[in-house]
Amino acid sequence: MQYNAIVRNIKEITPEIRLFFITFKDGHKFEFKAGQFAVLALPDDANNLDGEWHRRAYSIASAPSQEEVGFYIVLVKDGRLTTRLFNLNIGDEIFMGEKPAGLMNFDAVEDDSNILFVSTGTGIAPFISMLREHKEKIFNGKRQVALIHGARHTYELAFKGELEELAKKTPYFRYYPVVSRSEQETGMVWNGYKGHAQDLIKNGIVEKDFGVKIKPEDFHVFLCGNPKMVDESVEVFTSKGFTRHTVKEKGNLYFDKH
Ligand SMILES: Cc1cc2nc3c(=O)[nH]c(=O)nc-3n(C[C@H](O)[C@H](O)[C@H](O)COP(=O)(O)OP(=O)(O)OC[C@H]3O[C@@H](n4cnc5c(N)ncnc54)[C@H](O)[C@@H]3O)c2cc1C
Repeated sequence: MQYNAIVRNIKEITPEIRLFFITFKDGHKFEFKAGQFAVLALPDDANNLDGEWHRRAYSIASAPSQEEVGFYIVLVKDGRLTTRLFNLNIGDEIFMGEKPAGLMNFDAVEDDSNILFVSTGTGIAPFISMLREHKEKIFNGKRQVALIHGARHTYELAFKGELEELAKKTPYFRYYPVVSRSEQETGMVWNGYKGHAQDLIKNGIVEKDFGVKIKPEDFHVFLCGNPKMVDESVEVFTSKGFTRHTVKEKGNLYFDKH
């Protein structure tokens, strides 16, 4: 394995969450579909490139039309790759896989199907990619769209500004930021939704706002993030008759666990 890409920019959201912007060294563009993920890798020992490399999957947080490929990454304590990623500076080399993967994309979504995006933490990345890339297709006036983003703290809601602005300007789009940790912990006042992302589905808030039941005939549901959120939500939606979208069979439920 060899370095084939360069870190062009790093934006710190919190000391433990960063956005990395990467391009291939030779300048060729990364071809992927909004919603897919890629592999990033670094050597265990930067002085021994022939030794072990740590490779991990990361959802792409930028649109395919953007020049730099964005990744929204949380530092895992003692994590083999993330501890190395968080030591990188702008201009440092990295490996980025040439082949994107994952079935989370917009190809099979009908023009008039409502869309529900449910994410926690870094799981919002593929939805940011899709919203940026397919703005006209998603907000075509024929559907309602909602995006739930659960985080522990308000300051982890990295795309809140962009999404609030979008919700203000765009009819039929609702954005639900939801925070799970108490205000006492941070001293920050939060008057928004409290709890977990999946609570908003289980307690019917989203259905009430949509004004219709979330049924497989009328919706495509995308889930991404914490495995517990994904598992609990998959249970809810499969009990409503949703089926997973696969290569072989068109479905209306898409999910990736981070
Ligand atoms: C399809 C896919 C997309 C992904 N997209 C993203 C993304 O966009 N952003 C992102 O930050 N991560 C994402 N991940 C997770 C990522 O691939 C790594 O697992 C993660 O960054 C940890 O790697 P590491 O080498 O630092 O930790 P490791 O050395 O692999 O793990 C160290 C320990 O930490 C645990 N651990 C792993 N992840 C977490 C976590 N998030 N919180 C707490 N403990 C953890 C492991 O179980 C292990 O016990 C994605 C995973 C998949 C499968």
